Amino acid sequence: MYIKEIEFVNFKSFGKKVKVSFYNDFTTISGPNGSGKSNIIDGILFALGLTSSRTLRAEKLTDLIYNGDEAKKPDFAQVTIRFDNSDRKLPIDLDEVEISRKIRRTKSGYYSYFYFNGKAVNLGEIHFQLAKAGVTPEGYNVVMQGDVTQIISMTSVERRKIIDEIAGVAEFDERKQKALGE
Ligand code: ATP
Ligand code: MG
Repeated sequence: MYIKEIEFVNFKSFGKKVKVSFYNDFTTISGPNGSGKSNIIDGILFALGLTSSRTLRAEKLTDLIYNGDEAKKPDFAQVTIRFDNSDRKLPIDLDEVEISRKIRRTKSGYYSYFYFNGKAVNLGEIHFQLAKAGVTPEGYNVVMQGDVTQIISMTSVERRKIIDEIAGVAEFDERKQKALGE
């Protein structure tokens, strides 16, 4: 499974609808400073709801809505991630799986919506589905700036935890602890 395409609407510096294509094995993004490379990564974290342990570079979610045009202030932002699922890593009989998130500004705050293949779902459902393909908020599917330095300066026990996390063992340790506590 890999990300085939990301579609941004009013997300951060993407003031209109922008589609970014990715390749199966390896994709690099290059561009001048401030051109929006990191905003693409922010879009992935945002859409997949991976922000509990990773930090989005925004103080509040509504800062993610495009604000670059004084004349036109959109009231929502949406990011859609299209996965190629031809290897069926997600046990769903579809070649393409789509996860999308939208936030809408309101008078008092904002609303946030998640969609799985076009159907409105909650964040738990998104995490549940992604976990089947080994994508978890605590995991290292997204390696942020500074993560590598952090891993180097960790104690060996902490580093072991990360390896467990990557190998998928940690989830079972957690379940075991939970079961023992019951
Ligand atoms: P660098 O090479 O310096 O890391 P980058 O390509 O990663 O740069 P980003 O950090 O992705 O750049 O983009 C930063 C740009 O996004 C800034 O110009 C900032 O003004 C713009 N930006 C961030 N949030 C918004 C927003 N809500 N509306 C419009 N533009 C925004
Ligand atoms: Mg950057």
